[in-house]
Amino acid sequence: GGEEEVGGGEERILVSVRIRPLNDKERAKNDVSDWECINDTTVIYRNKLSASDRSLYPTAYTFDRVFRTDCSTRQVYEEAAKEVALSVVSGINSSIFAYGQTSSGKTYTMSGITEYTVADIFNYIEKHKEREFVLKFSAIEIYNESVRDLLSLDSTPLRLLDDPERGTVVERLTEETLRDWDHFTELISFCETQRQIGETSLNQASSRSHQILRLTIESSAREFLGNDKSSSLAASVNFVDLAGSERASQTLSAGTRLKEGCHINRSLLTLGTVIRKLSKGRNGHVPFRDSKLTRILQSSLGGNARTAIICTMSPARSHVEQTRNTLLFASCAK
Ligand code: ADP
Ligand code: MG
Repeated sequence: GGEEEVGGGEERILVSVRIRPLNDKERAKNDVSDWECINDTTVIYRNKLSASDRSLYPTAYTFDRVFRTDCSTRQVYEEAAKEVALSVVSGINSSIFAYGQTSSGKTYTMSGITEYTVADIFNYIEKHKEREFVLKFSAIEIYNESVRDLLSLDSTPLRLLDDPERGTVVERLTEETLRDWDHFTELISFCETQRQIGETSLNQASSRSHQILRLTIESSAREFLGNDKSSSLAASVNFVDLAGSERASQTLSAGTRLKEGCHINRSLLTLGTVIRKLSKGRNGHVPFRDSKLTRILQSSLGGNARTAIICTMSPARSHVEQTRNTLLFASCAK
């Protein structure tokens, strides 16, 4: 024994892109689709690149998986999220992100993925009677580096604490023990209401806030089977519906200096930096502590944790700039 993989043992980030169909508003303006999936891993820009763009942007972008407009969320879940999300039942932390500009389909995609995962976890529990499971659910929103509990009627910002054993924890965060599927859907609709109340009272748009739904699974063998290691497991899976990526686009275009101002979303920018560093093999300092989002997710990013990013995009010509920024972000993550 005693073998250790040097610099190994770390899974790559699974990076996918999902193209939504043109919507009615885009069609009404005679907008057209400029992007095409030529196979399951490559999306190409079909329109002609101008001479100046040719040096800046590729025509083809390749990822672990690209989903054309007619793909269902079930398919996206199965091929781009399921394995990462379900690693939680083996005691491995994971995070699934939806990244993209506002109205590109982040919430549409992430809410489906969350539901499919929870359904699969309930099925798994049903099939593994030899173990006892406890499922816990929590939900937060990060807006302007302020953390709010989406399962509480109290919207007072929550503090982050450094726990020597558990890492960063959100102080006084509500954790509900999930009873069954109906309880889960009840909590999800409560979160949605809380998110909307926040929007009207603070005059904020969901495009500026991040939502993290966290499912924690603890399990233990009902009978001691002589294998100490597997007798007790605990891990979390995080479903992260990010703020609209237009909030970070300034820094992604080559050569542009980071402008300071309230329109810059610190959590989104730091996440970008953290992901780029992790995808390069975690050499050097990873600035987890620079934002609330990355502090909260630190134990579910990098190290032994599994990560999947689903970048959502509109195919519309009118959105080409934002779509390119999204695809460049996705390229940096793989
Ligand atoms: P975001 O969360 O990125 O702002 P949404 O998920 O709210 O975007 O999507 C914007 C609109 O487009 C919603 O009405 C949603 O139902 C619709 N939509 C998004 N993705 C798809 C898709 N793949 N297929 C059909 N409709 C979609
Ligand atoms: Mg949304």
